[in-house]
Amino acid sequence: MKFRIAFFIFNIIGIYLCVSYWSIPSFWFLIITYILLFGALVSLGSYFIGLNFFVRSEQKGAGIVFTFDDGPAPEFTPQILDILKKYNVKAIFFIIGKEAEKHPELLKRIDAEGHLIGNHSYSHSNFIPFFRAKKLQNDFEKSRTIIGGIINKKPNYIRPPFGVTSPRYTKMMRKVNFVSVGWSFRSYDTTENDAAVLARKTLQAIAKNDKAILLFHDTMEVTVKALPKILEKLKSNGTEIASLSASIKTLPYE
Ligand SMILES: [Zn+2]
Repeated sequence: MKFRIAFFIFNIIGIYLCVSYWSIPSFWFLIITYILLFGALVSLGSYFIGLNFFVRSEQKGAGIVFTFDDGPAPEFTPQILDILKKYNVKAIFFIIGKEAEKHPELLKRIDAEGHLIGNHSYSHSNFIPFFRAKKLQNDFEKSRTIIGGIINKKPNYIRPPFGVTSPRYTKMMRKVNFVSVGWSFRSYDTTENDAAVLARKTLQAIAKNDKAILLFHDTMEVTVKALPKILEKLKSNGTEIASLSASIKTLPYE
């Protein structure tokens, strides 16, 4: 883990600073600045899943990979599925366990139409990066059991809520056989209101990286509006769209 290496180096440099500079007048200023800088580095590592700081996460597909988080949502998931079916595209849905409990029929439909289902935790709590490792594991396991009860398959792929990881994830991942899946393009469809802008930015990202894992949410109307524009263009360009499992050794289900 990069975090372990960073923490080791932090300690070594810290000891060196203490031994070498303890007698200078600005010693405490130096030490506090050093600790704050390390804190900033850890925060960056937590926020940017692509840095693989606490957990190694997949971020490259065998082609363009469509991922949808935070469902199932009765308002939008069926529309997304209709669009994917029209363009004959297979995607992966990282579902929230407590939402799956409310809408099991949507999970069954996602599975029956040939898409993958991944685990996006049970609670999707804002505090999940701060959960103790055991509680974090229980949250993902609970969601996994619920999914297994609905589609008779337990997912191996997880996506940390908000893409935020922590040392708690490092600890959990040592005990489980989950594969963490990040992304190489975050669409920001939860904050973008203009479907044309969303489609344009996505297509620009794909033009630069034809192995991108794209992050969308099947809880947003703008995504439903932008998706046909994106797929129409990709199909006319002949861009390869791949299933996530095509680039990962571990099978999607246990
Ligand atoms: Zn989420």
